[in-house]
Amino acid sequence: MTSKGGKESDALARAFGALVEGLTFYDLANVAVAEMRVKVAFEELGRHKKDQLSRLESVAGSGAKDVAVMPGIYPINVVAKVECYVCGFVAETRAMPNTCPNCGAARYAFEKEISLSKAWEIAAESGRKSATLFGESAAHTAGRAKAVLEELARDEEGQAVQADRQLAGLRT
Ligand SMILES: [Zn+2]
Repeated sequence: MTSKGGKESDALARAFGALVEGLTFYDLANVAVAEMRVKVAFEELGRHKKDQLSRLESVAGSGAKDVAVMPGIYPINVVAKVECYVCGFVAETRAMPNTCPNCGAARYAFEKEISLSKAWEIAAESGRKSATLFGESAAHTAGRAKAVLEELARDEEGQAVQADRQLAGLRT
């Protein structure tokens, strides 16, 4: 493998990491939160992330996805686990119980309170970081992968601007 090839696969692994991490975050956030408007926002952001992921997969294959490197731009730790507010029992968000196995509290005891403005703040910040990351990845790739990465970078910038608008709307 040439050094350019190495750089290209590293760049793709990072780009896939950003998408997989984003999708993981939005899926977990959607499960963990209670408030419907916030749930819907996370669901929509997750759907968009999934769409971006399939766009990159269509030009870069799944090999690079398997070695995806998570960049740590989403606050996964905030949503990875849920805690019963009655007794403190901790569960994986993916396996959020319908009743607390420790104290019997109903499912809502595990639901997290994340405000709608926090959700848009996360979307704006991660959008900007993702745009930078995709731009850097595009610089190390060629052909169709480069074109898609450039497109994803623009897409993320647009998403960040939209998230800013949502935030401004909530504050007025
Ligand atoms: Zn409990």
